[in-house]
Amino acid sequence: MRMYDIITKKKHGEELSADEIKAFIEGYTRGDIPDYQASALMMAICFQGMTKEETAALTMAMADSGERLDLSEFGTLTVDKHSTGGVGDKTTLVIAPIAASVGCKLAKMSGRGLGHTGGTVDKLESFPGYNSSLSPEDFFRQVNEVGISVIGQSGNFAPADKKLYALRDVTATVDSIPLITASIMSKKLAAGSHSIVLDVKYGSGSFMKSAEDAEKLARGMVEIGKSCGRNIAALITNMDTPLGYAIGNSLEVREAIEVLSGRGPADLVAVCKELACAMIRLCLGKSDTESRELVDDAIDSGRALETLKRWIFAQGGDADYVTHPERFRKSSIIYELKAEACGYIQHINAEACGIASVTLGAGRATKDDEIDHAAGIILFAKPGQKIKQGDVLAELHTEKREALVDAQNLLLSAIQIGKEKPKALPIIYKVVG
Ligand code: URA
Repeated sequence: MRMYDIITKKKHGEELSADEIKAFIEGYTRGDIPDYQASALMMAICFQGMTKEETAALTMAMADSGERLDLSEFGTLTVDKHSTGGVGDKTTLVIAPIAASVGCKLAKMSGRGLGHTGGTVDKLESFPGYNSSLSPEDFFRQVNEVGISVIGQSGNFAPADKKLYALRDVTATVDSIPLITASIMSKKLAAGSHSIVLDVKYGSGSFMKSAEDAEKLARGMVEIGKSCGRNIAALITNMDTPLGYAIGNSLEVREAIEVLSGRGPADLVAVCKELACAMIRLCLGKSDTESRELVDDAIDSGRALETLKRWIFAQGGDADYVTHPERFRKSSIIYELKAEACGYIQHINAEACGIASVTLGAGRATKDDEIDHAAGIILFAKPGQKIKQGDVLAELHTEKREALVDAQNLLLSAIQIGKEKPKALPIIYKVVG
């Protein structure tokens, strides 16, 4: 089977067989197929798309390109959650303790931030001492004892995705529905959880710019998950504007603690409750009403917050920061960005906010950059809010005085102010599956 023929076939819009897809993935993972041929195929897929059968074959070949985590000792109690990526998305920090406090098991590998989006592992490492690379024995023991363990990507899980994702990132081939489907689902299948909840984002801060495309992506992923015997559901949620008010690692952790304490921004609370509810429904077989009651009770009783403390402590972090979030280090520069006009906030571009936060030190330009856990942005406004000239729109937290002007300009262009009150967009568009 020649790679040249596989590329030609896809270029002409023909359907690839499962064997051809498998041969490509195996050859590319081994290093026999060069990046330039893989990128040509990725670009052909971007233009020609893939059938459901091709997408499923690509997903399975990628999931089988490395190890699979064996979580069978936990039976059907394991549940995983995946977000397609966003700005201010700290939902894992909230929903993992909620789900674990009612009996679900979360044995989870999470990513670090790259580009304008944040990563759960970076957020967790805001807790001094948090160890995101446990041995397999400690990882499994903690899942048994606390119900949650979250570590960084380790081992040889879906290595084909690791290579292909890096290639797609630099060849403008990320935003293809079949490629995103295979990338996410191959990792989720290799990660082994019985139930999977997907948070598919749409809007300015995500890969899917429209709710319709997000729904197409969600339906495809749910179908593949089901065909592999997993309990799976997807929420389609709005990422046109950052989620909550905080962007940046320890700032987001503090906001997550607020939600677990029964407070927090309405949009974040709504998404977290809906995701936690879907996890409990799928994992424990509860009805929607029962799941909602369990979620509310986990927060109101303080059990979810207590579970967060146990989790952080078990993983080597200083859990006293959960009780006393004021202990998180503050940036030495906290700059107030003020409104230059009065009116209603029309829109806050999530991607621009994410880039501004990275500029202030909260993210990495390259994989090996150090991040500043205290850096980032606290927004003081949401779309629809009325503001006066001179009102504080955001606080910029940083150690990098030289970054302030760029970050300010980015934020000022991200926050649009107009005369008319804009129509409110729903935060949860749909639940699929
Ligand atoms: N997230 C992933 O893991 N893969 C993609 O292709 C896009 C978003």
